[in-house]
Amino acid sequence: MAVADIFARLGLTLPDSGGNLVTRSPIDGAVLVRLTAHDDATIDATITAAAAAFPAWRDTPAPRRGELVRLFGNELRAHKAALAELVTLEAGKVTSEAAGEVQEMIDIADFAVGLSRQLHGLTIASERPGHHMRESWQPLGPVGIISAFNFPVAVWAWNAALALVCGDPVVWKPSEKTPLCAIATLGLLDRAIARFDGAPKGLSGLILGAAPAGERLVSDVRVPLVSATGSTAMGRKVGAKLAERFGRALLELGGNNAAIVAPSADFELARRAILFAATGTAGQRCTSLRRAFIHTSRYDEVVGSLKAAYASLPVGDPREAGTLVGPLIDGGAYEAMQAALAAAREQGGIVHGGERVGEGGAFYVRPALVEMPEQAGVMLRETFAPILYVTRYSDLGEAIALQNAAAHGLSSCIFTTDLRESERFVSAAGSDCGIANVNIGPSGAEIGGAFGGEKETGGGRESGSDSWRAYMRRQTSTVNYSNELPLAQGVKFDV
Ligand code: NAD
Repeated sequence: MAVADIFARLGLTLPDSGGNLVTRSPIDGAVLVRLTAHDDATIDATITAAAAAFPAWRDTPAPRRGELVRLFGNELRAHKAALAELVTLEAGKVTSEAAGEVQEMIDIADFAVGLSRQLHGLTIASERPGHHMRESWQPLGPVGIISAFNFPVAVWAWNAALALVCGDPVVWKPSEKTPLCAIATLGLLDRAIARFDGAPKGLSGLILGAAPAGERLVSDVRVPLVSATGSTAMGRKVGAKLAERFGRALLELGGNNAAIVAPSADFELARRAILFAATGTAGQRCTSLRRAFIHTSRYDEVVGSLKAAYASLPVGDPREAGTLVGPLIDGGAYEAMQAALAAAREQGGIVHGGERVGEGGAFYVRPALVEMPEQAGVMLRETFAPILYVTRYSDLGEAIALQNAAAHGLSSCIFTTDLRESERFVSAAGSDCGIANVNIGPSGAEIGGAFGGEKETGGGRESGSDSWRAYMRRQTSTVNYSNELPLAQGVKFDV
């Protein structure tokens, strides 16, 4: 389906300014649209509008704000199929994963609607007679959202649905590789805003462009929080810039996620989980499985079976039924994958698969399974492509140490039916990641839990649980309802 037709089904018009921001479909390399990157004046005007919208939105009762998110969720429900097709066209996801991404937006919208009546604070016992203490959560201000190409709509929704119910306008700088997904999503939000009585102008803004446009957003003191999703290299720069101006950072960066396959693992379950986690989305999820530590007693069985499955995985056009592995995003991703495989070979790795499938302007690859003699060098880096490194282990303590040796700390898992092993893995002495799973792979999180990771993954948490607090400011209030003025800690100051 052509991109203009998808926009028509969404009830929107495809913008095409013939500008310098050229978007290609990873499916065939064809140009989808030529847009214009926003200049400094346009970016400034967008942030000015968001800052101006803040007071009115802040003063709108939270359950009313939830009503706007409910209307947006309805737009998403009505247009799920068309938006998912756009995700497939622009990001190359297979049909079912693209639909799953839009479903995730609907799920977080529902979550946020409920949350809009539950932005709970605390009452705290005061040491002073006739005093009350409480903690409240107040709206923060415009929230900047920078997103990566591989989740071109859901990452914004995780942030925006919460920020909006928390009373914050949102300004989105999507990946320069997926601007159409952003334009379409905000077209749906604008429709919900138009139906909502009392949404201030400027409540939702869009900034188009590459890193320089993101830098403008990050540098602006009128944006108290920037939630940035992308590579660790990007987060290092964004985090430092925000720290310089005391802006808040919510960083969701790279991952180098691992699985441990223990002697008691349910083999069939582990095999299927590993295949989805390592090769789904063509290995282009932050939570994709990149390292597997397999107990020596199961190594030949597991690796033999994976090798056979890798050789027959259906790679190809993500729109076709039956395809499980779609294209890499572009030629740069292909080159990075080949460079990593060459480095693995130099380190003594035995590479199965990894070759290009087809030719022309698109980059399809057979996922690579790499048997490594030990964990070192390239295995400790995130390569955003379908490469799974496997090594043996003989002791669980050793396997946990290997899994924790990566610089990233996003997601992890163990396959075991031994209660002692699984509990040890999720204990304080186990996985050091933000996500630690048992008998499921590291990818495919639900929105109900807090999502994010430690170390070079950036430390941020978004989506479910109490992640909403990042989008609000905490205020402690002490109220004296007595006629006395006792000071805390028994201090005397009689005047
Ligand atoms: P990227 O870092 O190249 O770009 C991400 C976004 O940051 C883009 O919008 C880009 O324009 C912007 N950007 C880049 N440099 C910037 C700067 N200096 N200032 C402001 N903005 C800047 O990442 P990508 O290739 O689009 O995505 C892949 C990476 O994202 C992988 O490392 C993956 O693990 C990570 N990722 C993490 C999560 C997570 O939740 N932890 C989710 C998805 C992707």
